[in-house]
Formats: sequence, structure tokens, C-alpha cells
Amino acid sequence: MTEFVHLHNHTDYSLLDGAMKIGDMVAKAKSFGMKSIAITDHGNMFGALNFYEKCRENDIKPIVGCEFYMAEDSRKIKTGTEFGNKYYHLILLAKDNTGYRNLMKLNSTAYIDGYYYKPRIDFEVLEQYHEGLVCSSACIAGVVPKLIINGKLDEAASMAMRFNDIFGKGNYFLELQDHGIPEEKISNQGLLEISKRTGIPVIATNDIHYLNREHSTAQELLICIGTQKTINSPGRLTFYNDQFYMKSPDEMAALFPYAPEAISNTKLIEEMCNLEIEFPGPRFPIFEIPAEFPTQGDYLRQDKGTG
Ligand SMILES: [Zn+2]
Ligand SMILES: [Zn+2]
Repeated sequence: MTEFVHLHNHTDYSLLDGAMKIGDMVAKAKSFGMKSIAITDHGNMFGALNFYEKCRENDIKPIVGCEFYMAEDSRKIKTGTEFGNKYYHLILLAKDNTGYRNLMKLNSTAYIDGYYYKPRIDFEVLEQYHEGLVCSSACIAGVVPKLIINGKLDEAASMAMRFNDIFGKGNYFLELQDHGIPEEKISNQGLLEISKRTGIPVIATNDIHYLNREHSTAQELLICIGTQKTINSPGRLTFYNDQFYMKSPDEMAALFPYAPEAISNTKLIEEMCNLEIEFPGPRFPIFEIPAEFPTQGDYLRQDKGTG
């Protein structure tokens, strides 16, 4: 049986861009015999705690992450870029508590001073908050795949090395995806070439936006609501086909017969990510109690009405 972990997953917390409920996602991963699953919602971590608890209840290791939007230059520059992109995509996953805290810092920064159509980060904040994180090049909307698709392989390779240097060797991955989109073929070839040149490892993901194949229509309707279009609007934003569902490990392996390491490397990331979120519970102020009062309650009752 193929060993594989899904590391790029959008739940319904990817607001109006994900039709998969967290509980259903965890249950399906479990039914495939997966020992872990990731959450990488778009531009937020609103579902992280719900996801963490659902995973723990089901004896599945939670890999908390986020698909960030990233400005090409500074997050503070709020105009389009060379290719008319307002932002690129980037996947970050927490290895531990430091990584989890850095994900939160990055998210806050993105909303507070990087917001332009979407909450955006940039290289400056990645350099500041990179510790404890695994990074991956994301879908064809990622900056490295975009450069490859635009015929700039050398630039793509140096961009990949820039990420690799920030996150440290072994913490940055080139992400292969194949939903049948023609650009993905070009991107995958380029990513494999860069991997060969630089030694940066590849992983395979499916950009999951809904649980089962038959849910693709529901996803289309969500996108219409999110972009204020109807299903009949010409030129509306649409998913290419019905391939953005949670595939079995064997289905995933069948998509990448030419790169089996992309499948097995997902298990590497699974081993690297061991986040334990502390739930301290309610925190009450501590009062110093004079020695003559045995308990806080006694002190409170005595004090009542005297102040
Ligand atoms: Zn993406
Ligand atoms: Zn995605």
C-alpha cells in the first residue's frame, strides 16, 4: 500500500473557496489509513484549533499550516507586479510550537500591514519568522511555478534557493501538482529540473478544495458567491475540472509514476511536524492571601462589603 500524506488542504475555513468540512476531512484521511493530515487554508488559520482537536479525537497527527498570499516585493507596496499578480501563493507548515507561533505572527502581519485584495506576507517577514516552519512552493499560483511557466527557469531556480536559504536545508520543498491543467505539466518539469540542479526535494500534493469528486459543483457555486458571479457568467473564475478532491494514496501515486520520491517525501514532512498546542484553560489573577485565611474563598467572604 502506498504511504502518502495530504499536505495541501482547503477546508470551509478557506472562506468561499473550500467546501470541505474539517470533521469529514479527518474521517476520510483516517479511512485511507493515513496517520496524519494537514490544514492549509487560504490566508487564515481560523480553523486551526477546531482541526487540531478533531485530529486528536481521531488519533490522527495534526499538521497545522496555511497557504499564504505573498507579495512579490514588499507587502507594503500595494500595486500589481510584472505579470499583473497582486500576490503569489506559498505553503507553510508548523513543525512545532515555535513554528505555530510564527504562523500566527505571519498571519497577523499579513492582515495588519500587508492587506491588498488579500492578506499578504513578504520576504522581509519570512526572514524574521521562519523558525520552526516547513515551506513548500505551492500550486501554479506560487512564485516559483509562475516563473517556470513564464519561461524563466534560471530565475525560478534562484528564487527556490532564496526560500531554501531562509528556511534551511531540508525545510523547503518543490511541490508537484497534477489536476490535469496544462500549465502544471510545464511547472512539474521545471520543478524536477530545479530539484536535480539544487538538491531541493520534491513533494506531491493535491490542491484539495472538497472531499469527494461529486462535490465539485458545490465548489463552483461557492466560487461564484465569493466572486459575485452566477454560474452562467461568461469568463468567471472557475476550477478547471473535478480533480480537486481528496484522492487515495494509490490515486496520488498513479499521478506521479515518474517521481515516486514526491510521494514518499510527504512522509518525511509528517515525521518533521510534531506540534503540541497547549491549552492552558481559563487564567484567573492570583491574589496573595494573608496567612490567617485558609482558602481564597474565606478571604473573599471576609472582604465582602468592607471595601
Ligand atoms: Zn494555491
Ligand atoms: Zn491551495
